[in-house]
Amino acid sequence: MSAPTEPDHSQSDPVDCLIIGAGLAGLTAARSLAVVGRSVLVVDKGRGVGGRLATRRIGRAVLDHGAQFFTVRTPIFQSEVDGWLEAGIVTPWCYGFDRGDGHPRYRAVEGMNAIAKYVAEHVDLDSTDNPRRPRIMTRVKANAIIGGPDHWTVAYEAGAREPDEAGAIISTAPIPQSLALLRAGATSSTMADTLQSVRYHRVIAVLATLDRSPGLPSPGAIQQPTDPTFTFIADNEAKGISPEPAVTFHLSPSLSARLWDEEDPAVLAHLHEELRRYLDDAVVTTIQVKRWRYSGPVTPFPERYAVASTHPGTLLFAGDGFGDSKVEGAFLSGLAAAERLLNPPAAEAVA
Ligand SMILES: Cc1cc2nc3c(=O)[nH]c(=O)nc-3n(C[C@H](O)[C@H](O)[C@H](O)COP(=O)(O)OP(=O)(O)OC[C@H]3O[C@@H](n4cnc5c(N)ncnc54)[C@H](O)[C@@H]3O)c2cc1C
Repeated sequence: MSAPTEPDHSQSDPVDCLIIGAGLAGLTAARSLAVVGRSVLVVDKGRGVGGRLATRRIGRAVLDHGAQFFTVRTPIFQSEVDGWLEAGIVTPWCYGFDRGDGHPRYRAVEGMNAIAKYVAEHVDLDSTDNPRRPRIMTRVKANAIIGGPDHWTVAYEAGAREPDEAGAIISTAPIPQSLALLRAGATSSTMADTLQSVRYHRVIAVLATLDRSPGLPSPGAIQQPTDPTFTFIADNEAKGISPEPAVTFHLSPSLSARLWDEEDPAVLAHLHEELRRYLDDAVVTTIQVKRWRYSGPVTPFPERYAVASTHPGTLLFAGDGFGDSKVEGAFLSGLAAAERLLNPPAAEAVA
């Protein structure tokens, strides 16, 4: 795919498909459509691609602060991951955190964001006769999805970009954000009421760089899903992605919800004693707070995507809110959404 670009203000020709969101779901869908010759524009409000595949640098330290690792359950995702393994993008981290269960937990060699960059950049241009590269625009926030007589229009935050026209749309933003785009464009959907019930956990992440290793147990991480304070703690140096000691703490959804409206210093003051418990005698050299309003669905929508509308073209919602959630769920959802556009039901293809 073309390298993500700064916003421009020119209007492109209408595209076959406009994808909102350059996380794993959006990038996977874009690649599947482009490789068979569809013109695709991907827009993302973030500074780069990846969404919740997020890696932050603090000085020389490197910290994953969204997804920490991923697992593989389906052959189709395994075949994708085999490509990532072969390219040296990912590697097994461990086979279980407290005790091994034989199933690999994969990490990205240079941080989870590298997976998104790899998917964005690697389109198999030899696979079909007329492949194209999707165009990816970052720092472009969609404000509204508007239905016209014969195409969709996506309007953006003031000054980001002129509106774009598209034959089809896949919105991979978290479901409440996708629904807000419909409301802003006065676009009705029979799915809106159903999708409105999908709720997301909020998660606060605390990122700390240290003067020495905190000495977390092998493999440098603690996973404790039912802990009231921290559900995951990772030493990014032991994980192999940071040249310096740097720890990521994920607060439990319930504590994150309780502290959500507090200022960062108040969050850190609340956590002071608990943080110290895991840091041993290491001195904190920098500490930051990052908030994920939509870390993952409480209960995902049971299908891999939802058809929000079929007129004036197909409008799909996809992403980890659908199907199996998490990294694998996002991948499978993006793939299924692209497949739905390429092979619509007969009635829709004729319409
Ligand atoms: C704290 C945390 C820990 C996690 N841990 C794990 C884990 O260990 N293992 C695992 O498998 N999964 C984990 N996950 C979940 C995993 O990261 C996600 O399931 C997956 O990355 C979601 O991909 P996606 O493409 O569906 O969504 P996203 O990655 O969120 O992509 C959606 C994109 O849409 C963009 N967007 C939204 N609204 C607009 C708009 N209006 N205009 C333009 N762009 C827009 C966003 O900027 C974003 O880039 C974790 C997530 C978090 C937050």
